[in-house]
Amino acid sequence: MITIKNDHEIALMREAGRISKNALIAGGHAIHAGATTAEVNAVVERYITSHGATPSFKGYQGFPAGACISINDEVIHGIPGHRKIEPGDVVSLDVGAFYKGFHGDNAATFLVDGGREEDAEANRRLIAVTRQSFYEGLKFCRVGYRISDISHAVQEYVEKNGFSVVRPFVGHGIGHDMHEDPEVPNYGRPGHGPRLEPGMTICVEPMVNMGTHHIRQLSDGWTVITEDGLPAAHYENTILITEGEPELLTVGDEEL
Ligand code: MG
Repeated sequence: MITIKNDHEIALMREAGRISKNALIAGGHAIHAGATTAEVNAVVERYITSHGATPSFKGYQGFPAGACISINDEVIHGIPGHRKIEPGDVVSLDVGAFYKGFHGDNAATFLVDGGREEDAEANRRLIAVTRQSFYEGLKFCRVGYRISDISHAVQEYVEKNGFSVVRPFVGHGIGHDMHEDPEVPNYGRPGHGPRLEPGMTICVEPMVNMGTHHIRQLSDGWTVITEDGLPAAHYENTILITEGEPELLTVGDEEL
């Protein structure tokens, strides 16, 4: 069931979104060569809890941390731990905050300085295309379109740029629950799925692979990696559908 949020609920979701984005920004600043992913996660969790919220992901279906941190061929759902971030790494950070009964959810991918320059150039392009594919989808987050119009716009932009979209994991409605209806795939033919209505809140989150779209899941039950070992990137915001322009609910003190 798709939930339509009232003005009060939307106000709380703006606050959850602001905390989510600022926690993502704080985590992004903590990403550098030599840091462990557990240290980055600690920064994220500290930001969220010190702003009166709780990390949405922690304990979600048993996930042990407040942030998903996925490096290089890891697409999503990487578990923070002892792994040290290295020069040239592609680090995807996914963060959610639960505030007064509502969730915000957002993700971005960061390129660590250093590494081989030709790799860095390709990875910068992967990250930029992934981010822009979100904004291509956002153009269709308006009354008059359907969910798969967003999906199609994301896929078309990604593939035009020579990359591929992950299929088994998708964006989602969000609100009182972190994952609500509808599903928001990053692929598909336009003109299908639920019609967008004012008061709907959804997460559009392209997961983009440099090579094949095929993925597999590690035996830890969480980490999703590319089948060919090439890098992947992720970008996500929480969006409110309005009568006019879509509103990003995950807005913080810096652009990501
Ligand atoms: Mg999400």
